[in-house]
Amino acid sequence: MQKIFNYINGNLVNSKENKWLENYNPAIGEVYSLIPDSDNQDVESAYIAAQEAFPLWSNKTIKERSEILQKIANLITKKIDELSFAESVDNGKPLALAKKVDIPRAATNMSFFASAILHEKSDAYQMNQVAINYTLRKPIGVVGCISPWNLPLYLFTWKIAPALAAGNTVVAKPSEVTPMTAYLFSKICLEAGLPKGVLNIVHGLGPKVGEAITKHPNIKAISFTGGTTTGSKIAAIAAPMFKKLSLELGGKNPNIVFADCDLDKAISTSVLSSFSNQGQICLCGSRIFIERKIYKEFKSKFLKKIKNLTIGDPLEKTTKIGALVSKGHMEKVLHHIQVAKDEGGILLIGGGQYMAEGRCQNGYFVQPTVFEGLSYDCATNQEEIFGPVVTLTPFDYEDEVIKYANSTKYGLSATVWTKDLNKANRMSQLLQSGIVWINCWLVRDLRTPFGGVKDSGVGREGGTYALNFFTETTNVCISYD
Ligand code: NDP
Repeated sequence: MQKIFNYINGNLVNSKENKWLENYNPAIGEVYSLIPDSDNQDVESAYIAAQEAFPLWSNKTIKERSEILQKIANLITKKIDELSFAESVDNGKPLALAKKVDIPRAATNMSFFASAILHEKSDAYQMNQVAINYTLRKPIGVVGCISPWNLPLYLFTWKIAPALAAGNTVVAKPSEVTPMTAYLFSKICLEAGLPKGVLNIVHGLGPKVGEAITKHPNIKAISFTGGTTTGSKIAAIAAPMFKKLSLELGGKNPNIVFADCDLDKAISTSVLSSFSNQGQICLCGSRIFIERKIYKEFKSKFLKKIKNLTIGDPLEKTTKIGALVSKGHMEKVLHHIQVAKDEGGILLIGGGQYMAEGRCQNGYFVQPTVFEGLSYDCATNQEEIFGPVVTLTPFDYEDEVIKYANSTKYGLSATVWTKDLNKANRMSQLLQSGIVWINCWLVRDLRTPFGGVKDSGVGREGGTYALNFFTETTNVCISYD
């Protein structure tokens, strides 16, 4: 059986206690690899390696750091077939999606921040006749990066790239559910010549490894992406130690379709924003609000498109919907479907497990599922399901749909479909959301601020926002005397 190893101080090593966890291929429901069941001793080794590497790494010139990160980006691109295959097997997502989105984006994350540090500038404030102030941005030291399972290498590198680019050294933990591409990434770092200890990857369970990183008194900043409940646990531990925190948490995003939109584009994009990656993207628009005038037309065209989605073996070229990430998660999503039925939801399509044939007969598949007839404030429309389940709700007025959209505890992203720019601007002002897409979804410019309001998180990632998070500011004031 294939084994995955921790990456500590430039070595691929087992956990100190020599314990292992099983790693499943969710499309076939079988264990296919073992990962280290690490604990606080392994986190301590990773921390010591990172601390020793910090002076060397932080004192490298920006150009030197940039070149190594770019080398890593190039190797990701060179190994796209191997990495995409590994991501698909580990996560259950269609191979075609991993190859089109996940792995290219991981390479772009590395090259984007490799380039961004070459172009960063700092602020200066003149006080006429008195003094001039300028700001220095300094790396923090050893920082922690904790990432989830839905976009494994994509989100892992989204944190690691700015942390390293800014001159920090890192102790990182990928999700224990999808560790494979983080392991392959550690081999890429070795091949690229990343100095030992600069990046350390500790595999294992969240409550053991993730918590040990969070509790470590000398890991001064934590960048976390994951569930809101986990985020609040991390915040409670980190706050008394005054750690810097960036929390990218859950979402229950509204997708608002006005009658004056380009309906064909709204429908095809809504199929993607509902079911891409089996609905396991924090930005998926799981609550679709449709202006009543076009409700029937939207519904029938939307359902027709969903019927044509091929579900099954993620390795097949034609597959659009793969497996959910684990048996536990599939059961959670099926439970939410039952709740929607109990709440009186009218099932329009799907509604249960999908039983694949052949090699995937024991896989964790759920049919793309659509409900209507549910109130905006019922559990189904308030709780994050994080699976291929969406609801359709008609509305008549702008203020009505704003009320529906803002009714959840989340505020990550929202999409609005309209040709009326004034209406789009009004909606953007009123939506409680970190990101608003007008007539599009998941269009990403990596320079823009990314993050949520309310229970969807604290802080922003992306471009200068991420580089600022991973640095401390010193203001220097020089007298003109
Ligand atoms: P979790 O919160 O369960 O886990 C996220 C990471 O935290 C994993 O590496 C996990 O390890 C680790 N972890 C778990 N418990 C602790 C702990 N007590 N202390 C420290 N670390 C811990 O989220 P999921 O992996 O289930 O991811 C799905 C969630 O992530 C959804 O809510 C989704 O909305 C959100 N998400 C948000 C995004 C955003 O940008 N806002 C983007 C993508 C996802 P392990 O896996 O081993 O348990």
